[in-house]
Amino acid sequence: MSTTSEADIAHLFHPYTNLVRHPETGPMVIVRGQGVRVFDEAGKDYIEGLAGLWCTALGWGEERLVEAAAKQMRQLPFYHLFSSKTHEPATRLAERLASMAPIPDARVLFACSGSESNDTAIKLIWYRNNALGKPEKKKIIARERAYHGVTVATASLTGLPVNQRGFDVPIDRILHTGNPHYWRCANPGETEENFASRRAEELEKLILAEGPDTVAAFFAEPVMGAGGVIVPPATYFDKIQAVLKKYDVLLVADEVITGFGRTGQMFGSQTFGLKPDMMTVAKGLSSGYLPISALIVAGHVYDDVKAQSGEIGVFGHGFTYGGHPVSAAVALETLDIYAERDILGHVARIAPVLQQGLRALQQHPLVGEARGIGLIGALELVADKEGRKAFDPKLAVGARVVAKAQEHGVILRAMGDAVAFAPPLIISEDEIGQLLGRFRAALDEAHGELVS
Ligand code: PLP
Repeated sequence: MSTTSEADIAHLFHPYTNLVRHPETGPMVIVRGQGVRVFDEAGKDYIEGLAGLWCTALGWGEERLVEAAAKQMRQLPFYHLFSSKTHEPATRLAERLASMAPIPDARVLFACSGSESNDTAIKLIWYRNNALGKPEKKKIIARERAYHGVTVATASLTGLPVNQRGFDVPIDRILHTGNPHYWRCANPGETEENFASRRAEELEKLILAEGPDTVAAFFAEPVMGAGGVIVPPATYFDKIQAVLKKYDVLLVADEVITGFGRTGQMFGSQTFGLKPDMMTVAKGLSSGYLPISALIVAGHVYDDVKAQSGEIGVFGHGFTYGGHPVSAAVALETLDIYAERDILGHVARIAPVLQQGLRALQQHPLVGEARGIGLIGALELVADKEGRKAFDPKLAVGARVVAKAQEHGVILRAMGDAVAFAPPLIISEDEIGQLLGRFRAALDEAHGELVS
């Protein structure tokens, strides 16, 4: 029998991987996890500094989630929600999410991934505006460096070249405006407040240039994740929302990363004062243990959609596995654990340790900016600190530092030359110390190699 690595190289088509180099470098085989750590085939342990892909808020080995899945598997392993069928786990989860989300009279539509829920949001916006007799009001604005997924429509919203190059996206009706990264994008001498105002003015100009009657919605991650962990200036969203309101443009908050405590409040929308018309959640919803996502829709949007569906006869959208009973049961248990263990209180206590640790690394010669909020952050690596000069992308400094960190027993992710941190929310103070200590050693080594 072949080894896992041999079978992988022979048959597995890897996402987000250099397919030419993969057979030479080979896969990293992860066999198990416990707490904030995962273990490879040789038994080496790694602190998972990105909670998998911003997923496992409760870390690995949470027996209560295993039990919840097993119990539901025995009782009802599958049923769907089409044609008015329902089951207890999806119903209770919808009820719970509607009560938690900062969205009035919320309705919950389930799917299996962040991409699917964002894609669903796009379709709902179009469907609703047809219902309202506004068939021209269909354009959607996202931001440069945004990440909203990889389906045809959501890869179009995503503002990262790697997700668009070669894929014949973006589709039409999708527009991009500037992102709120003050450190990288502000003009010399511009205050954060003025920078935020400028971004809002740019958005208004874009809406006016396109015609307000053609612009339907604006998508935003409260903290941009895959774009490099970009935390907006304090007044940014107030100013943006004033523009959206003026031109009757819906706000969709993509909380796939920021949902369930990551930024310190239950939702990033609460941390940054967003009042979204729709919200998407995934990842932390089940702590990544099973695939499940949700689109949470304000009552006023639901009512418009309902009217349109009445005319057509049926709301013709849904995924076979959306609201899967086993995933929903695990999500309910996850939300119970967040409440019982006061995960928000824990994040409030522990977040300063991560944030101060990252700010301390700002002294390092390779680090241009340390940024973050709650238990999410990033270090931006630069060739010249004073001039904020980026490295030549061909040097792949971010990827090299992350590879070094892996040798030192920390798994992190580079977004260009920004290294992202988003450990499981259950991480302890001591484990944050180990995570940053191992990373520091890797950074020193990478620096030594770069200057030699
Ligand atoms: N939105 C955000 C903010 C994300 O970070 C991601 C994935 O990382 C997605 C959407 C897409 O989610 P999925 O990979 O589950 O389709």
